[in-house]
Amino acid sequence: MGGTELDYIHTAFADNWVAPLGPHVTEFEKRLGDYCQMPYAVALGSGTAAIHLGLIALGVGTGDLVICQSKTFSASANPIVYQGATPVFIDSESDTWNMCPVALAEAIADLQAKGQLEKVKAIIPVHLYGMPAKMKEIMAIANQYGIPVLEDAAEALGSTYFGQPCGSFGKIGALSFNGNKIITTSGGGALLTAEKAVADSTVHLSTQARDNAPHYEHTKIGYNYRLSNICAGIGLGQMEVLDERIAKRRSNFERYRGFFTEINKKGFNIRFQEEDVNSFSNRWLSCILLDPAENNGLTRENVRLRLLEDNIEARPLWKPMHLQPVFAGTPYYGGNVAETLFEQGLCLPSGSLLSEDEFERVFAKLGEIFGG
Ligand SMILES: *Cc1c(COP(=O)(O)O)cnc(C)c1O
Repeated sequence: MGGTELDYIHTAFADNWVAPLGPHVTEFEKRLGDYCQMPYAVALGSGTAAIHLGLIALGVGTGDLVICQSKTFSASANPIVYQGATPVFIDSESDTWNMCPVALAEAIADLQAKGQLEKVKAIIPVHLYGMPAKMKEIMAIANQYGIPVLEDAAEALGSTYFGQPCGSFGKIGALSFNGNKIITTSGGGALLTAEKAVADSTVHLSTQARDNAPHYEHTKIGYNYRLSNICAGIGLGQMEVLDERIAKRRSNFERYRGFFTEINKKGFNIRFQEEDVNSFSNRWLSCILLDPAENNGLTRENVRLRLLEDNIEARPLWKPMHLQPVFAGTPYYGGNVAETLFEQGLCLPSGSLLSEDEFERVFAKLGEIFGG
């Protein structure tokens, strides 16, 4: 926590705004919209809810297809299934580790040849670990075919591409404030949009779709997806430290990069998720790629388990959705980039509270693993 969150919670208690609406919700939405340069932000109970309501706003329903980045957390894809639609998974490209525009174009051409293009209702690119996807290329393809983009920016609050905030490129953007994200409301999310009608209908659906009547009248199926005023208060406190958090995460990454640059001089070749000149990543997580063929046979699993010996947790990168048992048999376009990233990638300790002592401990162990 940044420090002022409790003040906002106290205000909410003092004013008795303990409900899924109130002044903190309104103010949090305003700050998020301003920060992400989107006219409307709707605060919700989770990032998953934001993706779900985003798909509903795009009219995704039974029998439709939604094109989705394969390499991501399952919450990018699960809401497609909630809607009775089928995901079509797309490989990553090796620069950003995000949706490959070439594989995306291939998928669309193939679906068109099969007469299924009209069923495609949305494209979901993801900005993994904060790294902006190649949105120029992806938007160009999406616009060419008139398919709306729902940007999963759950990991990328504060990241920019050509100076424009992640989450503001598509028709809809989704943010997450889960406990592990760069800022948190303990649990929460937001839907970003430039369209007032989308924002209004998202608020309506997220609060049980109650029509304007003295009694409870419903013409639509609603959801209980709104963010509470207490959690929004935490979010207001967190917005005050967001830029500090980004600076810390970026400095974590630079420490690792510096360390591995030295290691690489000793006959290793550790790679990173690289920014290009037009992208700025919040560096939510610091990740490395370790090809055993370039690293004396050392695998990411060797490194992960050796770190764990000293109670240092590192994790494999997201396992691609097209390799998940739950999505077996789902269409997939591309090669094995996402799969190789999964086999060779490791997320290193990346928290905003990572101290000098903890860095020393991690570097000492890594030094041991990579031969002193
Ligand atoms: C965290 C996350 C989500 C889901 O957000 P929740 O707030 O946990 O529901 C969706 N997509 C990605 C890529 C995420 O990392």
